[in-house]
Amino acid sequence: MKGPNRELPILYLVVPCYNEEEIIMESAEVMKAKMCELISSGVIGKNSRIMFVNDGSTDDTFALLSDVAKKDDIFIVVSLVGNTGHQNAIWAGIMTAEKADVVVTIDADLQQDINALPKFLESYKNGAEVVYGVRNNRESDGVFKKLSALAYYRFMHLMGSRILENHADYRLISRKVINALKEYNESNLFLRGLIPSLGFPSDIVYFDTKERTGGKTKYTLSKMFKLATDGITSFTIRPLRIISFTGFFTILFGIILSIISIVEWIQGKNVPGYTTLLLVLLFMSGLILLSLGVIGEYLGKIYLETKNRPKYLIDCVICSGNENDD
Ligand code: UDP
Ligand code: MG
Repeated sequence: MKGPNRELPILYLVVPCYNEEEIIMESAEVMKAKMCELISSGVIGKNSRIMFVNDGSTDDTFALLSDVAKKDDIFIVVSLVGNTGHQNAIWAGIMTAEKADVVVTIDADLQQDINALPKFLESYKNGAEVVYGVRNNRESDGVFKKLSALAYYRFMHLMGSRILENHADYRLISRKVINALKEYNESNLFLRGLIPSLGFPSDIVYFDTKERTGGKTKYTLSKMFKLATDGITSFTIRPLRIISFTGFFTILFGIILSIISIVEWIQGKNVPGYTTLLLVLLFMSGLILLSLGVIGEYLGKIYLETKNRPKYLIDCVICSGNENDD
């Protein structure tokens, strides 16, 4: 087997796209220009490609993309059946890019600076198997996104996660990492947690983010919430442990309280306890419901994992010419 080419690697730029008709043509052009520049300057192999993963778009994204892919062999379109979500779309692209020595995943909206690509490749050349893109600024985000991101990272940290702050899914992974990923069959996918846990030598590249120039964010609140819970439940069981601890201390507290009550009863003191009782009752039932919810969340994940369903289904792949062509 031929080893991966570190000097002149074949790069596949994997781009998940969901309803990006307003911006996708502009992005395709910018990406192509960058790729051609890298090919002609001898940084990447000439069989490098831009692979768009159409994540079940309901607008004209697919039509636009298949047009360019039919005309220009630098583009490949992998079209998925239905909307599987950002993480699964990235996964589908990585798994389909069989000819790649390295894959860089990047969003379709060009918010992540594509000019950082040479820096990613430089790190790869120097031996990194994973290169994380970390954003310099969050100015392009709204207040809500800024605050929720901050709260999220703090919470993840508390839960014992090692995810990199301000790293989204702009990253380079090598063939070695892709082969390792193939062994991971979890349907509950959170690449930002999974990839660092593999332990390959890694590096960081800082880049600037820009405003979206077209279209709206495809991350709805519910998609963000799903990503957040997946992030926690996919690699830590600490919340379950916290529940057990809380339960233990609640029982301890209950025992102490009962002893005090009995002593007071023996001493003949009256306890005007209605408010206390009500508060304890409300607090405890809230706690119990929350705990059940957390346990249910994990149970649901186990249920989904045991089904062992495929993460994506490919509807069609469009590319002009042969991927091996010179
Ligand atoms: N995306 C996707 N499937 C989805 C949602 C989003 O493939 O269900 C893609 C989207 O087209 C974009 C990337 O994931 O390329 C990131 O989405 P977006 O830019 O909307 O997220 P934001 O930058 O606002 O977090
Ligand atoms: Mg974006």
